[in-house]
Amino acid sequence: MIMVDAMGFSQITHQNTPFLSNLSEKAIFGRITPLLSFRGIEPTLFSGQHAEIHGIWTDFQYSPAHSEFQWTKNPLMTGIQDIFLDKIKNLTLRKILTAPICHLTKKIYGFSQFPRTTLIPWDELHKFAFAMPKRIDQEGALGRVKTLFDVFRVNKISYEIVNFPNVHGDSDTMKAVMKILGSNTRRDFYFIRFFNLDGVQHRTGTRSRQTRECLRKTDAQVKYIMQGFEKMLKNPSFIVFSDHGMTNVTQALPVQPILKALRKKHGSKFDSFLDSILWRFFVRDTRVIGEIAEELSNLKGGHVLNGDELQEYHLNFSPEMRDRNGNLIFLADKGTLLTPNYYQGKNFIKGMHGYPVKNSELDPFFLCQDGQNTSTKNEEHREFIDFVPTILKLMNLQNELKLPGKPFN
Ligand SMILES: [Zn+2]
Repeated sequence: MIMVDAMGFSQITHQNTPFLSNLSEKAIFGRITPLLSFRGIEPTLFSGQHAEIHGIWTDFQYSPAHSEFQWTKNPLMTGIQDIFLDKIKNLTLRKILTAPICHLTKKIYGFSQFPRTTLIPWDELHKFAFAMPKRIDQEGALGRVKTLFDVFRVNKISYEIVNFPNVHGDSDTMKAVMKILGSNTRRDFYFIRFFNLDGVQHRTGTRSRQTRECLRKTDAQVKYIMQGFEKMLKNPSFIVFSDHGMTNVTQALPVQPILKALRKKHGSKFDSFLDSILWRFFVRDTRVIGEIAEELSNLKGGHVLNGDELQEYHLNFSPEMRDRNGNLIFLADKGTLLTPNYYQGKNFIKGMHGYPVKNSELDPFFLCQDGQNTSTKNEEHREFIDFVPTILKLMNLQNELKLPGKPFN
């Protein structure tokens, strides 16, 4: 299984990706409905359940009573930020200087994953908890919700994962794969991830020279890997796919003036978090929720999600999970970036993803090649919840999971 971060369905063309384009005619190939999700894509991919079931949606959840960052709640930290950190404009330098907070928290709590917290203001950080401290293949990674890896454990299926946090870029990935191809150890399942297309497109947009070069390079690397595995294993099955597409950023929506106005009117009756294209609010008083929603409705460049949309995007959380993920969600329009936010700061980037707009450059793709039967099919809009049923069918594994998805093949 090979995941190419941020390669959109519409980017698979004869020119950009000759290998994958050719392969798409000999396999089951199609679009995936893009998820309005960041951290939650991986849990959905490997559990076959949507975010409203497994609970993971974005990197951070609201949890003032249980935040792992509570130790940062002291006047010293806020003081350092006021006199020192806020004066640093360079994003990379800021990230380096704030990294020790993440490392220390990761160590104290024994996290297997790295919490990316570096741009959350230090006087806000202590209210939030990292949504997914365990790696997806660890036992209990999603609490009570079982994953594909739980089925693997029961059935004694061996696997190897080439992904963050062990590798951080495509050259790391290639090195790790060379090691696999050169060794005598065989596993039943491999998950291999490519990263670079995501960063390149965030920085330079979807149609830049750098993006075209990265598409071609990644395509050649995927070809190399698939041919290597074909030599090493007997009739292997392959799933190649992306987690999301990408769209060009065309507009910035400045949030500071609105935040100031909301603070003036409602004081500390609400907290909020800015994830690039989402402005999540945490409000206890239902009357205040209504008032903030009313004020946000005047904004151009996004809107507050209504009940039907939450249902459609599979974000119909239980009341308890809603309090953690946000009980009022403002979503930016396609191509609009909230600025400043806790990921890009004040920087204006050229590409962004996460907008749930079907039939656009934001659609991810999947390609499924069954090692036993060579069926070809063009599929329109399958879902991320269809991957687990597909893998279980390809590997002929019995299980007790109640899965809402359907296999590709
Ligand atoms: Zn990204």
